[in-house]
This record gives sequence, C-alpha cells and structure tokens, in this order.
Amino acid sequence: MKTVKLSNGVEMPMEGFGVFQIPEEDCEQVVGDAISVGYRLIDTASSYQNEKAVGRAIAGCGVPREELFITTKAYIQQMGYENTKRAFQESLDNLGLTYLDLYLIHWPRPDLERSDWKELDARVWDCLQELYQQGKVRAIGTSNFLPHHLMNLAARGGLLPMVNQLEYHPGYLQSAAVQYCRENHIQVSAWSPLGRRRLMDDPLLSEIAAAHQVTVPQICLRFALQNGVLPLPKSSSPKRMRENLDLFRFSLSQEEMSWIATMPQTAWSGEHPDRERAVLS
Ligand code: NDP
Repeated sequence: MKTVKLSNGVEMPMEGFGVFQIPEEDCEQVVGDAISVGYRLIDTASSYQNEKAVGRAIAGCGVPREELFITTKAYIQQMGYENTKRAFQESLDNLGLTYLDLYLIHWPRPDLERSDWKELDARVWDCLQELYQQGKVRAIGTSNFLPHHLMNLAARGGLLPMVNQLEYHPGYLQSAAVQYCRENHIQVSAWSPLGRRRLMDDPLLSEIAAAHQVTVPQICLRFALQNGVLPLPKSSSPKRMRENLDLFRFSLSQEEMSWIATMPQTAWSGEHPDRERAVLS
C-alpha cells in the first residue's frame, strides 16, 4: 500500500476502508476480509457502533498493529474538552488498542441552534492536541470542516489538523475546502468516494470506464488519487474490495480529469455541516 506523508511526518496509506453502515454482527468478518485483501487503513467512528467488531478483526487479523492505520471520530454528543477525552478512551477500549493512528472531530457543529460552536470546536481541538502531545494518537484532524470552521481552529494558534475528511466524489468536489486544505498542508480524505453508488450509471463516468476497461468505482477512486485525495470506499464484498484497490494499472489523462472535474454537481448526500443536522453519519 502506497502512503502519503502528513504534515507531522506520519505516513498514512493512500487508500483506506470505510465501515459506515456495516452492522456490528458482520463487521468483524468484513474488516478481516478487507485487511486480508490488502487494506491497512480502517476508518470507523463511535457513531457507527461497530468499533468493538473492528477491534476484534484487528486482534485476529495476524497483521502487526504498527502496519495498520486506525481512524475513529468523536461524534457530536461527545464534543467538549472532558467529553471528548472520555470518548477517546471509550473508543480506544472498544477497539482494544493502546493508541490510535488518527482521531477526528466528526462534525464542526453539533447542533445548528448552538451559536457557541467556535468555542466548542476550539475546546475539542485543545483536547485532541493534548492527546496528540501525550502520544496517545499519531495524528489528529477534522471531518466535514469547511474553510471557515478550519479558520476558527487556525485563529487559536497551536496545531492545524493533519487531515480533513470530506464528502468528495465526481460531482461533489468541495473545491473551496480542498483548496484551503492544500494551502495549509492538511491532507484531504474522501468519504463516500463512490457517491454511495449514486454515480454507478453516470454516462460520462461509464464512458471513461469503458475506455480503460475498468469500472465506474475504479474511475472515481483513481480520480481522487490523481487529485491527491485519499479515498475511503466501503464494500461488504471481497470481490469489490479488491476491485477498489486495483487502481494502478491505468491512469486518467489530463483531459479525462478535466471532464470529470467539470461535470455538473451530482450525487451529493445532502449533508452540509452548516445546513443539516448531522444525523446520518
Ligand atoms: P461509498 O461511496 O464508499 O459507497 C459504498 C457503496 O458502494 C456500498 O453500497 C457498496 O456496496 C458499494 N460499492 C463499493 N464498491 C463497489 C464496487 N466496486 N462496485 C459496485 N458497488 C460498490 O460510501 P460510504 O458512504 O460508505 O463512504 C465510505 C466511507 O466513508 C464510510 O464507510 C465511512 O468510513 C466514511 N464516511 C464518513 C463520513 C463522515 O462524516 N466523516 C460520512 C460518510 C461516510 P457493497 O457494500 O455491497 O459492496
């Protein structure tokens, strides 16, 4: 698995495996399959309610802990300095780990009615920085943070997030947020990199996929990689897990990249951190 170097020097696998909506009872098997086909980065969250199963898969997979890269996230009810500290320990215990590779603030605003989100985010970020300084987590970051949310953290001084996880796929490229991250050495990772299947029949992507004799998901993932964005596809099938890793025997031309980058906005989940209550993920 190729890696990218984060701003603090930590190497992060260039592609990861997401476990949102994998039920607890299936998750140990699915994550075990993902690790055996070659994934080393597993992306979970306390809100997915499958951390314990991820932990069992890690314990039973036979791959040394230091070769894995485990991410989890503090959810909206877990925000606050003391709350997040407790949540971090709970996640660590659920996963059966002594350290995490990456810990993220899941959403910038727990509740759209709360006007003190800037202060709250800053307190959670203080907590993450402390966990990082104590060596309990190798990298810290955010998820669903747009430039104004990131600017709020930056204004406090201290560390900037090393990673920001965003919804990112053809048809929803969040260019302003991605550009801000690039300018500030924040690695972008892509949630729903396949548009949660909503892109499967897109005519442009289908045409490009046919030209390369690959599938539409492979085009979506290759597009992210060529833009320096780290995709986190989810699949419950070992065949599709393998397909989603098979991205290095073709490349997209500049023209194809431009076609995809300029396609109409489509396949958006509808989840916006300033407009929607974060209930889905
Ligand atoms: P994806 O874009 O990864 O799409 C997953 C869907 O695509 C599943 O239905 C899967 O079906 C299908 N699929 C996967 N590979 C293929 C393939 N090769 N061919 C056909 N169908 C395929 O969506 P997710 O929303 O799951 O996002 C991925 C990860 O991102 C999550 O699991 C989670 O870790 C993270 N995430 C983070 C969020 C955040 O707020 N930070 C929000 C949402 C997701 P099947 O399982 O049957 O293969």
